[in-house]
Amino acid sequence: MAQLLNSIYGHQSQLKKLLDAKKNKHLPHALLFAGPSGIGRKKAAWALAQSLLCEKQHPACGECSSCINVEREKSQDILFIQPEGLYIKVESIRPISRFLALQSFAPARVIIIDSAHQMNPQAANSLLKTLEEPPENVYFILISSHLSSLPVTIRSRVQILRFLPLGAKDLHIVMKMSQKEEQKKITGEESQPESLEWMVKASQGSMDNFEKWRENKDVREQAFNLLKRAVRGEESYTFGELSDLVKNREQALFVCLCWQQILRDACMIKLNSAGSVIHQDQKKFLNVLETLPFGTLNTFFQKTMELEQDLKGYLDSVLAFDNLFFQLRQLQKKENNQMEKRG
Ligand SMILES: [Zn+2]
Repeated sequence: MAQLLNSIYGHQSQLKKLLDAKKNKHLPHALLFAGPSGIGRKKAAWALAQSLLCEKQHPACGECSSCINVEREKSQDILFIQPEGLYIKVESIRPISRFLALQSFAPARVIIIDSAHQMNPQAANSLLKTLEEPPENVYFILISSHLSSLPVTIRSRVQILRFLPLGAKDLHIVMKMSQKEEQKKITGEESQPESLEWMVKASQGSMDNFEKWRENKDVREQAFNLLKRAVRGEESYTFGELSDLVKNREQALFVCLCWQQILRDACMIKLNSAGSVIHQDQKKFLNVLETLPFGTLNTFFQKTMELEQDLKGYLDSVLAFDNLFFQLRQLQKKENNQMEKRG
């Protein structure tokens, strides 16, 4: 039993705006929650829906049957639509009219469309018809991270509310809470809040990212070790090691992201901008990277960008990494030769 509002971190001004409008009965019938993914827009949509449907009090009691049903995602008065595969097709939009034709005694009915920009043109047209004449007490909440991909016809009929990435302060609160949870599990271990500072920076204001970094702390260590050895020109890996680390695409992309960030960090230090370094806990490794010329760091970074494209283009991930290592070795050979010539 819970008020969904309490599970949202940050976005206080957006939530206040919405709840005030709801209380004063001038909440627009079609809303669009815009902003990057992973920062809590969907949670905000469900929390607003709970508030609209609560039978007892404003903003929501969290205890009535209606509130509980919303929390369990079992409410008859909410229709949740999201892409199936790459698109939201017209087949997913059609049930809206059936949903609205049903009799309901609820104070409101809510249609939440996640990743609305992924509607194909037929789906968007179909939605447009309902948006033009929304029945009473029906609320549409569209969620989108790519506003410009939404047809103007849709955009002009919704009230756009922008959600910004979470601030460092909000992420710190989340971080402390999750640390407490972890501590409960590992009794006796001292917590060191400052050692996780990098996680907040690496998350770039996204809760999803934060979770990802937290869950993959070990993968990050391995990723850095691998790069460390490659930079030192050591025999960088065994095939088994590599395939273990980058066995699936998602993890391969994560390793790639770790490298991009640490290489960027090294560049930042060279540019005397140590304050914006993300992986502050990696001082030793950063010292090693710092010894490389700026041009080399930059080329390494470019190579990781190409690697990312390769991985997204569904090149076999072990092959893609192997290819990168080959290029890095060539690069270093060339550099060593040049150094020898100069020397
Ligand atoms: Zn309630």
